[in-house]
Amino acid sequence: MNILDNIRVVLVEPIFGGNIGSVCRAINNNGISDLAIVNPRPTIDWEDARRLTCNAKAQLEARKEFQTLEEAVADCTVVAGTSARTGFYRDTAYSPREFAPIALESAADRKIALVFGREDKGLFNEELALCTHIIQIPSSGLYTSLNLAQAVMVCCYEMFVAADVFEPAEEKAEEASSELRERMFALWREMMIKTEFTHGQKLDHMMMGLRRIFTRGKLTVPDAKILMGLAKQSLWVKQQWDKAERKNND
Ligand code: SAH
Repeated sequence: MNILDNIRVVLVEPIFGGNIGSVCRAINNNGISDLAIVNPRPTIDWEDARRLTCNAKAQLEARKEFQTLEEAVADCTVVAGTSARTGFYRDTAYSPREFAPIALESAADRKIALVFGREDKGLFNEELALCTHIIQIPSSGLYTSLNLAQAVMVCCYEMFVAADVFEPAEEKAEEASSELRERMFALWREMMIKTEFTHGQKLDHMMMGLRRIFTRGKLTVPDAKILMGLAKQSLWVKQQWDKAERKNND
């Protein structure tokens, strides 16, 4: 089982269909699929919701609806209310990053909930009272209130990162051996001499510079081959020029 399957995102009386759609997209980006809506308003524009889901229509279709927050979180251990405001124990709030490991510890074997409030009025105190934790997303202080779907994105992203399920693409190309690297440097050295880029003492200095540049990262076999190709082509072009010049002088 994937630990992220135990995270439920709960929206309390959201107003805008567009935000609901964007929430579906955000949770989908972060591998979360359990969405609950408390007391959905009859005025919600579901067409707008669908439009903004993009590839997350399944999350929207699979949403569960509840009359009250109590019912929506009944089977959850940790229940985290999110709030932009201070007051009502909000000064003991966790940031999403601080909260993520706490949430995941419980999500290992039980459901947990992340609860988000109305776009205009947030969560009421009696709703926050049902919560075991309060999360506040740090912001500039000039304006602390985030858009609902963006608040969902920040919180779910922190859960996703903490769950450590992301596998970054790995460099598949083989790393260049010393032998290949030295063949490449020899070609560049020859190119620098023949194209009269530099000579004498400066040449050794340049070669040290080149060695530093090309070994700063991980030089792969294809990288070395590109650099060798470039040097060979420059040598060839120089040879053609010299030939043409000799002909002109004859
Ligand atoms: N005017 C409302 C803001 C609601 S924004 C208020 O003052 O509460 C809609 C929802 O997004 C909030 O209820 C909360 O769930 C979430 N949210 C917005 N900004 C947030 C922040 N800085 N930290 C945590 N949650 C936030």
